[in-house]
Amino acid sequence: MKLYIHIPFCVQKCLYCDFLSFSVYNESIKQKEKYVSALINELSAWEQIFKNINFDTVFIGGGTPTCLEPEYLLKLGQVVNKYTDIQTEFTIEANPGTISEEHIEVFKKIGINRISLGLQSAQNNELKSLGRIHTYEEFYKNYIKLKRAGFDNINIDIMAGIPYQTIESYKDTLYKVLALEPQHISAYSLIIEPDTIFYEMQERGELKVVDEDTDREMYSMTKEILQKYGYNRYEISNYSKHGKECRHNIAYWIGKDYLGIGLGASSYIDGIRFTGTRDFEKYIQIFNSSFTSSKALSKIHNNIGDNYNKLSVKDKMEEFMFLGLRMCSGISKSVFTERFGVEIDKVYGNIINRHLQNNLLAKDANSDKIYLTDEGLDVSNYVLSDFIL
Ligand code: SF4
Repeated sequence: MKLYIHIPFCVQKCLYCDFLSFSVYNESIKQKEKYVSALINELSAWEQIFKNINFDTVFIGGGTPTCLEPEYLLKLGQVVNKYTDIQTEFTIEANPGTISEEHIEVFKKIGINRISLGLQSAQNNELKSLGRIHTYEEFYKNYIKLKRAGFDNINIDIMAGIPYQTIESYKDTLYKVLALEPQHISAYSLIIEPDTIFYEMQERGELKVVDEDTDREMYSMTKEILQKYGYNRYEISNYSKHGKECRHNIAYWIGKDYLGIGLGASSYIDGIRFTGTRDFEKYIQIFNSSFTSSKALSKIHNNIGDNYNKLSVKDKMEEFMFLGLRMCSGISKSVFTERFGVEIDKVYGNIINRHLQNNLLAKDANSDKIYLTDEGLDVSNYVLSDFIL
């Protein structure tokens, strides 16, 4: 089983961010304490339901998990450790502006072995335009500290299409990141989502975004340069050194079960997708104290309410295709048949053949897999949307 833990706190809201997070100040320390206790109680409720749980991957994301004071992170990690072992991939997302020496000590104590750093850009004017709280220099200093502390599985997030970004400045970011030799790089393009400050600015004509041609050039440059430096592209936006793929995220793309705890966290278990409440006060109130096992189920029901959906066979087939094809290794025809009791060609034969002919999909010569070609990856949104039945 996989575990995701959501920490909804950030120092300040980035202008492009639509994640469930909000800014907190020092006086909100009580809120953080209550939240960590609630997380621990929620996890204990799930333990009472599942009995023996073991997590082979844990991902603490957000928000900004390093917004939590080290002692709260320690408390949470020590509880999580009851359900992990030496093999567990244990990731934490960290904002380069919020990592302290004490955090790094806690990471070691609780067995965190993978760090995901949201750099986005090595240019301070671009970081400022995104509303990020850190500079490149702060990021660099913390990256070196993490390496010296022995962390040997670090991801760096970078972003293309940032306001004021140029081809040259993006290339400079890529080379600065490569010089640090991280094990994993996630490279995304900026998307202006509704309910963000950038969206409002764009509506008012106040946002200077890069044009589509420049964005495409940055996209091509990313894959060429990263591949040249030995990073294997294993998913549309993710590149890693050999053996350093993110096991936790792969589980989402190949349809494995996962449990999400915390505010608004989603889970997928036994074909049911469900999401916890997004109301902070309600979440704290539900899980504000420990409870007997007879109460565990009602607490969980109370948290989920109507936010659950039993996936139909059609839903599952669609997800198998459009999530599975995000992986560069593609999807297996025999696994489709095993999972759904019908051959893939009976359901998707026409669509697959059309994209094979257009050279957007290809068949693997050594297995029964079908994968997106380089051209297919370039227009992945278009190809993947065809698998919605
Ligand atoms: S640090 Fe991350 S989660 Fe927090 S506001 Fe910025 S992008 Fe959103």
